[in-house]
Amino acid sequence: MNKPKIWLSSPHMGGSEQKYIQEAFDTNWIAPLGPNVNEFEKTLQNYLSTNKHIAALSAGTAALHLALKLAGVQAGDEVLCQSMTFSASANPITYEGGIPIFVDSERDTWNMSPDMLEKAIKDRMTKGKKPKAIIPVHLYGMPARMEQIIEIARHYRIPVIEDAAESLGSHINGQMTGTFGDYAILSFNGNKIITTSGGGALITSTQKEKEKAIFWATQARDVAPHYQHSEIGYNYRMSNILAGIGRGQMEVLDQRIAARRANFSFYQETLDNLPLNFLTEPEGFYANRWLTTILTDSYEQREKIRLALAAENIESRPLWKPMHRQPVFKDAPAYVNGVSDDLFDRGLCFPSGSNLTDVERERIVAVIKSCF
Ligand SMILES: *Cc1c(COP(=O)(O)O)cnc(C)c1O
Repeated sequence: MNKPKIWLSSPHMGGSEQKYIQEAFDTNWIAPLGPNVNEFEKTLQNYLSTNKHIAALSAGTAALHLALKLAGVQAGDEVLCQSMTFSASANPITYEGGIPIFVDSERDTWNMSPDMLEKAIKDRMTKGKKPKAIIPVHLYGMPARMEQIIEIARHYRIPVIEDAAESLGSHINGQMTGTFGDYAILSFNGNKIITTSGGGALITSTQKEKEKAIFWATQARDVAPHYQHSEIGYNYRMSNILAGIGRGQMEVLDQRIAARRANFSFYQETLDNLPLNFLTEPEGFYANRWLTTILTDSYEQREKIRLALAAENIESRPLWKPMHRQPVFKDAPAYVNGVSDDLFDRGLCFPSGSNLTDVERERIVAVIKSCF
């Protein structure tokens, strides 16, 4: 197997990252915080065209943890979470002793079904507990049905924490994902559409919430000349070096989205005559197409393609395995309708990096075509 490896989604630097890192070195801002962190937060805020408040953190997972704390989630509280997602959407619920309650997806976006959400809320309330928060996810960059989800959330007065880890740059009728919820999180992990090697951000509705989050993220130090603590803190802030990478990446974000969307169009056009189902954007929806995903006719067909690609040293991956089927969450209540189970059985992510070359893409589609 000596063909060069093609990755599912690998980091793609733009060029200015090293300039900002150099600035940090030149001014000895190697410690956490510093000018790159502030500038990165401002750039994100401008990009999202929002007056919400943004705190750069060490990971999207850390951002979710703090969002849940801001929403007041405590031991024994229930939190509704999209089942079809990466485990990092759900894990932080348990950090504060919360109980994840999983909600299935709808066909059009593969994200949280508003119908199932309302059903879940009503049933939990009947059982005596009102959920403390709702976590919808914009999976693979496709926005969830935020208008309906927010309407339901407002009706029952439950805060929404948007998991926009995969959807930076996606929008619905021009409104960016990450700006719909009471809170939202972004990720800059190595495989995401832009990366700081590792990092994330928390988006809050008020400056006060941002300040509280930063307080927790920097070890919860009370105002005093000595180290004094009245609350449990965390070491969750983004470093000034990594924020420098983030500033460089923001300069090329639109190019990265264009390249990811071009991958999607390439696959869709080249594989047009095959029985593969591509997820289309509902009216008004714009997806960053972080990963190109398809549905095959059957589990067997999906595995055939995946294994044929692997034999050629090309990485592809089944869709996220729903949380309600994960051993670690086997005891968590779930409201399921069969959609995420079906997606998991028949779905596959194709290599989708913004740095894929034409030669690589031709290699990939040749293998896929050979499976039919
Ligand atoms: C990547 C990801 C996260 C976690 O982000 P990290 O920065 O890796 O901690 C959370 N949710 C989803 C849907 C993700 O894809």
